[in-house]
Amino acid sequence: MADFLSLQQVSKVFHADTAQQVRALDQISLTLQRGEFTVLSGPSGSGKTTLLNIIGTLDEPSSGTISLDGQLLEGLSQARLAALRRDHIGFIFQAYNLIEVLTARENIRYVMELQGQTGNQCETRVQQLASQLHISELLDKLPSQLSGGQQQRVAVARAVAARPKLILADEPTANLDSANGLALMEMMEQLNEQEGITIIFSSHDPLVISKARRSLILKDGRVDSDVQCA
Ligand code: ADP
Ligand code: MG
Repeated sequence: MADFLSLQQVSKVFHADTAQQVRALDQISLTLQRGEFTVLSGPSGSGKTTLLNIIGTLDEPSSGTISLDGQLLEGLSQARLAALRRDHIGFIFQAYNLIEVLTARENIRYVMELQGQTGNQCETRVQQLASQLHISELLDKLPSQLSGGQQQRVAVARAVAARPKLILADEPTANLDSANGLALMEMMEQLNEQEGITIIFSSHDPLVISKARRSLILKDGRVDSDVQCA
């Protein structure tokens, strides 16, 4: 079977035509299979965010090719990329990035509504995820009324609601205390196992990193180590 995600010699150079050019990714080749639960770690500036952004089609590589679920990303129009992100990729950010004027429920329903799912379909899914992520009591609250850990659980529900094939999470626990960070990882692990969603997240925290089943360490824009964990 074809690889779920394949990167061939992917490089990213910022400010390429100036003296300040930065090689953020340096010829990365990498394959991932469907259902993997992978962490990217490595020092600040090693290329984690750049790699996640490029895999998520939020940014383009300077060279190299990427294919996601059999689809070559190169040459797709902005509209096709936007549809691919909406339908197949869920994003979780360090700063939660919930829409402040929408309730937790509305934040979670947002992508499903963009996809044109019915009200009933959306609500059933919201209830299921809310129960799984322990946020059932919080659905009518605004993000400003929630703690950081609660907001991040809402953000996880939002990311998985539309059943994406892939979740990308850039330092999702960086603003949480260690108990909340670990709890969040356990919920993501559960979603990975129960829904078969492929997850790639980045982290600095050894406890959080230890939750992943595959560990990629980046250094200077290259994969310095790639280990499958027990
Ligand atoms: P990490 O997430 O591991 O901290 P990043 O992917 O953010 O690393 O950054 C990798 C390198 O690319 C760093 O040297 C960073 O300064 C540089 N970089 C990232 N984004 C940009 C940008 N938009 N413009 C210029 N340089 C950038
Ligand atoms: Mg980063």
